[in-house]
Amino acid sequence: MKTANPSPLFSPLAIGGITIKNRLAVSPMVTVYCDTDGMATERFIAYHETKAKGGWGMIIVEDYAVDPLGRGFWTPGLWKDEQIASHARLTERVRRAGSAIIAQIYHAGRQTSAGLIGAQPVSASPLPCPAMGEIPRELSVAEIEKIVSQFGDTALRARQAGFDGVEVHGAHGYLIAQFMSSYSNKRSDAYGGPLENRLRFPLDIIADIRKKCGSDFLIGFRISGDEKVPGGRAIEETKAVAIRLEKQGVDLLHVSAGTYESPWAIVPPMNIPPGWIVDYAAEVKKVVSLPVMTVGRINDPFLAESILRSGKADLIAMGRASLADPDLPDKFAEGRSEDIRRCIGCQQGCREILRRNEPIRCLVNPTCGYEYRREFKKAEVPRKITVVGGGPAGMEAARTAALAGHDVTLYEKADRLGGQFAAAAVPPAKGELATYLAWAARQVEKLGVAVKLKTPYTKEICRSENPSLVIIATGACCARPPIPGIDGPSVVSAEEVLTGRVSVKRKVVIAGGGMIGCETATYLGSLSRQVTILEMLPTIAADEESTRRFFLLQMIDDQRIRVLTEAKITGITETGVRIEQNAELFDIAADTVVLALGMEPENALAKELEGMVPLKIIGDALKSRNALEAIREGFLAGAQA
Ligand code: SF4
Repeated sequence: MKTANPSPLFSPLAIGGITIKNRLAVSPMVTVYCDTDGMATERFIAYHETKAKGGWGMIIVEDYAVDPLGRGFWTPGLWKDEQIASHARLTERVRRAGSAIIAQIYHAGRQTSAGLIGAQPVSASPLPCPAMGEIPRELSVAEIEKIVSQFGDTALRARQAGFDGVEVHGAHGYLIAQFMSSYSNKRSDAYGGPLENRLRFPLDIIADIRKKCGSDFLIGFRISGDEKVPGGRAIEETKAVAIRLEKQGVDLLHVSAGTYESPWAIVPPMNIPPGWIVDYAAEVKKVVSLPVMTVGRINDPFLAESILRSGKADLIAMGRASLADPDLPDKFAEGRSEDIRRCIGCQQGCREILRRNEPIRCLVNPTCGYEYRREFKKAEVPRKITVVGGGPAGMEAARTAALAGHDVTLYEKADRLGGQFAAAAVPPAKGELATYLAWAARQVEKLGVAVKLKTPYTKEICRSENPSLVIIATGACCARPPIPGIDGPSVVSAEEVLTGRVSVKRKVVIAGGGMIGCETATYLGSLSRQVTILEMLPTIAADEESTRRFFLLQMIDDQRIRVLTEAKITGITETGVRIEQNAELFDIAADTVVLALGMEPENALAKELEGMVPLKIIGDALKSRNALEAIREGFLAGAQA
């Protein structure tokens, strides 16, 4: 039962023939939950329905392709009548749960690949998208008119499927944006040149939708306030566009940022502050009288509330915040803000996976995308469960098992919870990781898990407590390949450095230029150490997510960190490191050598306990991977305990 919350976030908004019950909207995010023919699957429906049940006022469902040749991923589609029925099931379930539902309609234009669509991509002009690299075919006037009509037909099908409206995707460098921006539109006909010509395509689309769907059907428009690319549209021209869109009958403007050439602006990583583009919405709001929605890494309802109070926007769209916690609105309404699981901008589940056109997930919410499986159930018979290891996997296992009703004890040999994840939060721009640990630790405590810190779990404890199940989540330790001198006194691990357990002298060599090595280098760089990264591969930070890598490489450059690639360490001495590079051997002086050469599962305990008690090994203790997999395995272990 929700309590009345006086926050302005819970004031309704009448717009485009509908009333939205609150100011919290889910922004459209590609999920890859539909089938390859654009039909809604149960996975897709259950995912959106879960958010509707969590209290969001409006859900904007992502990227309905108006033409199968306009898809950039396996997005939903309403390009043919046969697709209406499956999406009608979606709208019926979402509306029954209390949210308004809008279909975002789009055409990817040049921001796709021939490999995906089976044809040469199209665009306003034959200029390749710098991110995709394929030269598109310039659309003829007849083809443009056909696509205008496809947008109108798709909107009509959306109306027939029960959507409350559509959002025309004119942002992020997709086809409409390609026409609108002189960065990508070099035409000399009626669709190119001056702004009025570049706006002809979107304005015709809006007119066609209005003609086919009527005056009581909400039409929203998403626009990049700033494209964040050289020669792209900036906010002043966006304001002129907004005025023209309002005149054309658009009901709602959704101000975002970026194109595929500036992906960090579309899906900003933790390096970018929350709410970073709110001022673009505020600028647009100054010149129009229709409602304006803002977006951009807003992961906290208090921030959303303050934006609304400031008058900079009328609606707050939260995308990844809704992946991290679909119940955010209800929790906030009920005064349970401390229970809200916040998006940490890690990009692991929602962006990195998407680049492979695979279904998205969320690192902090292991049920995201699996709602349809209904994996969590209350235990019929409560059991005594022991979890060993207080990193993300262990905490999630303990949390879920306790939530299911089991009697749970969590053992951690260190003096705090968090495991490797706590160390990962130390380098510059990584601090937000710690908010997840704080949330998980709080939940574990609230659920009554008995947490035993500084207590290594042993056979003796196991024998005396006799649990029904021991979940081993002991994580991984620093790999130590057989390099001469690797056990010397000047050699330390990245984790020891980041947790402050060792002191690091002036000249440092980081052995291993993967993500951990590079981030540790920037941490030491920020402490004015003279750092050299040695990497065997031709590039560094190859395992880092691409938007975060962009900022990481910038930081390495700014801090004047020396980077040697294709360099093999052949030995370590007390004065430095001997390396082989380009068939030459030479020495690099170092007071401290930091190992970042990978991780190895730490699962000796599992071998010790074998045969004594039922065991489940999860996370890095099973195989060294990332926290996305570790937390998911923790959830499954706890849910199936
Ligand atoms: Fe946020 Fe990371 Fe989850 Fe994506 S995977 S929604 S960035 S916490």
